[in-house]
Amino acid sequence: MNESEQQRRAYLQAMDIDIWLPRVSPDIDDVPAVVDTDVTTAGIDWETLQQRVAECTRCELAQSRTQTVFGVGNRDADWLIIGEAPGAEEDRRGEPFVGRAGQLLDQMLQAIGQSREAVFIANILKCRPPNNRDPKPAEAAACREYLQQQIDVVRPKIILAVGRIAAQNLLDCSDPVGRMRGRAHALGDIPLVVTYHPAYLLRSPSQKKKAWSDLCLARRLAAESRP
Ligand code: SF4
Repeated sequence: MNESEQQRRAYLQAMDIDIWLPRVSPDIDDVPAVVDTDVTTAGIDWETLQQRVAECTRCELAQSRTQTVFGVGNRDADWLIIGEAPGAEEDRRGEPFVGRAGQLLDQMLQAIGQSREAVFIANILKCRPPNNRDPKPAEAAACREYLQQQIDVVRPKIILAVGRIAAQNLLDCSDPVGRMRGRAHALGDIPLVVTYHPAYLLRSPSQKKKAWSDLCLARRLAAESRP
């Protein structure tokens, strides 16, 4: 067994997945090159969008943030991962999904043949709510335009909504994750799958098999999505 196969088995084991399940080998050569000329539907280029987010004062979270967390990854990604909002560590480092939950998200991505570098990871909010409280509806509404512009540029084949807050905001509903996960949704013409937040999976590892099932559904929908 070569080193990458050993790694893959470790990722699957971290997800509590039996190693005989199907696998797809990640291939860094398959990652599309970054295109600098992409613009949003509003005609804004990616760098200008980043700058606007960095300087944004549209909601009260601008007062308490250390920095904005724009998102990370490949702007031409097939997969767009959307979480809730930056936590303390993300606020400090300026990157979404770091720490133990971020490591588990990385393992989840690796288990389906993706990686942090190949996907794009963003949040509903670009700034940290104090004390990690839930985003207020007005904050999510104020920030939504930035996320929509990111979706417009990335044009992913699949959106993975990670956790209750992300799913409820994207699908404009108040259902619990348990009712939203396990089936296909859509945001416009982009398929969307809901799954548990890795922070929740760390607290409830027995749910990892459901998360794996969600990831497999998302992988199938991405494969069936537009070329
Ligand atoms: S959360 Fe969004 S809308 Fe609010 S200040 Fe930050 S970037 Fe602006």
